Amino acid sequence: MKKLLLGTVLIAQLFGGLTPFDGFRAFEYLEKQVAMGPRIPGSETHLVCRDWIVTLCREYADTVIIQEFSAYQPFARDTVAAWNIIARFDSGNSRRIMFSTHWDTRPEAELDPFFPKKPVPGANDGASGTAVLLELLPYIKDFSNGIGVDLVFWDAEDMGIAGSNTYFCQGSEYYARNPVPPLPQKGILIDMIGDAELSVPVELNSSRYAPDLVAEVWDMAAKNGYAHVFLRKAGPEIYDDHVPLNRIAKIPTINLIDFHYTHAGKNLWHTTRDLPAYCSPRSLQIIGEILLLWLEKQ
Ligand SMILES: [Zn+2]
Repeated sequence: MKKLLLGTVLIAQLFGGLTPFDGFRAFEYLEKQVAMGPRIPGSETHLVCRDWIVTLCREYADTVIIQEFSAYQPFARDTVAAWNIIARFDSGNSRRIMFSTHWDTRPEAELDPFFPKKPVPGANDGASGTAVLLELLPYIKDFSNGIGVDLVFWDAEDMGIAGSNTYFCQGSEYYARNPVPPLPQKGILIDMIGDAELSVPVELNSSRYAPDLVAEVWDMAAKNGYAHVFLRKAGPEIYDDHVPLNRIAKIPTINLIDFHYTHAGKNLWHTTRDLPAYCSPRSLQIIGEILLLWLEKQ
């Protein structure tokens, strides 16, 4: 424990960091997921990754709730089992916030110019948000300012067919229709935040449903030297897990997402090149710090 604390303090100093969040260790979590292989619902690797996330959550959280549901996998034209994982801290507290992300990866890389039928490795789209939430576990455990926290890993987010929202975000939609009380009053979703060239504009559904939360987070980022990352301009409107949370569960939730994921002018999103090489510990560090700083202010 002592060694761990020393390490994180040192890393925070190296980064000029603001909190003890360890971007390097988060990056190891990202690499570990990619090394497992694609985490496609219905696959063996999906089960391995599920158990790994649950084991880590159980080390730190008060309660870990595994919410099983059936998801439709349109690429395989099959119904598969899927699992939302909810790591709950201060379980009985009715004043709560939620940090969430998706942990599954996409069955087919339809935007890949060479291998559109191969699966997406999901370093950024799946592993990056999961890595940040896993690295948050020890800090949330030690954190106490009278607010409960849910760290939630959504499953079956990325199984839709491009052009239709229907089979995207199945896990968050299931949760929104079958919430586990006590419900959080607000939340932050993170997705595709590992991009080595991180920039997070204001996503439009976020400003539509939770403008106050957008203001809080962007002000906090600016105050802490991250105005160059959290851009005060409108980004694209994205159908992501925050939409069912806002629309159905009525939990005001914003999405921190860098949808512009490229390298040397070429798109990496939904391609076989969604790899750790195009992500960075520094990007995970910035997002982890902002989440912790925002949590402190609640
Ligand atoms: Zn995706």
